[in-house]
Amino acid sequence: MSQPISAEETNNFAKEAMAHMARQDIAPTPDNFMVWYSYVAKKDPDICQRIDWMLQHGRIFDAEECNGLYLRCMTLAASEDGEKRDTALQSASAGVEKSVAEVMAMLDEASADAERYTETLTSAGGELASAEAAGAVRKIVSNLVEETKRVADQNRKVNDRLEQSNREIAELNERITDARKEAMCDGLTGLDNRRAFDLALGRAVADSNGGASELSLLILDIDHFKKFNDTHGHLLGDQVIKLVAKCLTDCTKGHDTAARYGGEEFAIILPNTDVEGAVSVAEQICEIVASKRIRRKATGENLGGVTISIGAAQFGGSESPEELIERADTALYAAKNAGRNRVEVALGGPVLRVVANSGGA
Ligand code: GH3
Ligand code: MG
Ligand code: MG
Repeated sequence: MSQPISAEETNNFAKEAMAHMARQDIAPTPDNFMVWYSYVAKKDPDICQRIDWMLQHGRIFDAEECNGLYLRCMTLAASEDGEKRDTALQSASAGVEKSVAEVMAMLDEASADAERYTETLTSAGGELASAEAAGAVRKIVSNLVEETKRVADQNRKVNDRLEQSNREIAELNERITDARKEAMCDGLTGLDNRRAFDLALGRAVADSNGGASELSLLILDIDHFKKFNDTHGHLLGDQVIKLVAKCLTDCTKGHDTAARYGGEEFAIILPNTDVEGAVSVAEQICEIVASKRIRRKATGENLGGVTISIGAAQFGGSESPEELIERADTALYAAKNAGRNRVEVALGGPVLRVVANSGGA
């Protein structure tokens, strides 16, 4: 595992990346910044090797090359290690925002100085204009005024450019945040996806402090869903998945995490909830889902409803998240075997005070 990067290091990397980009005459866009930050921070041997080779051979970083490098960076960001990279990029852009702000403040000051200097020289020029013998001096002063104006102009341009970079970097930050959210979200239902679920369960298990605070897990699966798809089509099947997801959202709140575990399976993490509480949530979900009617939008035809089966397990205190999932999953299959549209409680874990089920199939 790589060491966390300090704010100072991040800032230095960001400055170095900007300096490289200025030297190679590369547009200061967020995409290019991402590439060069990655290079100076030696985040990826592939990018480093390519850029070193380009520099050694005096190659020009034209738009095509920059785009190629950016795509490489993005592929890496989307890899398994994506989350870590995202964090690094976020702190990177925070760092560069800070450094650009510093440079801009500096330039503001320099620009004000230059303007003051221009005023001084202009008034000195006016005084010299009245002196006959001062022709040569007048010319020098006038040249100096011109030169100073040019410098002030130049400073203003750099200022504008840096302001633009600052805006682009803020945009980059937003894009990274959006991409991270998207990577954790199930596209069809808007629930947390499997990756987000795994992280949330890991956190919940750690927070329960070896079971000191109760933690329960529900695994839910739509009954006979293959048959529903075969009869009514996959698109309507998708609508059913969305409907079930909505029921899950309606029945959970606060610190609960409802996720699409995969296909037509869902999971709910219930912190500070014992198995009795979990069963009561599960029974409520079973009832609500079973009460819904599915209609074909175009014709209004009533296609009946679907049911779900649920396995409930309370965290045992010393088991792994995977073992907890396994037990909830076994309870789910017991619910299927017992006739579906019901809740079954997992064996093992803390001593159970209830043996639950809801309705029959
Ligand atoms: P059981 O009651 O035992 O769970 O039976 P089942 O038919 O629900 O289970 P099975 O595992 O045999 O079939 C699951 C079905 O879920 C098959 C698959 O086509 C469907 N499915 C999985 N993901 C999606 C999806 O995203 N959209 C749609 N429409 N169907 C899906
Ligand atoms: Mg299934
Ligand atoms: Mg199923």
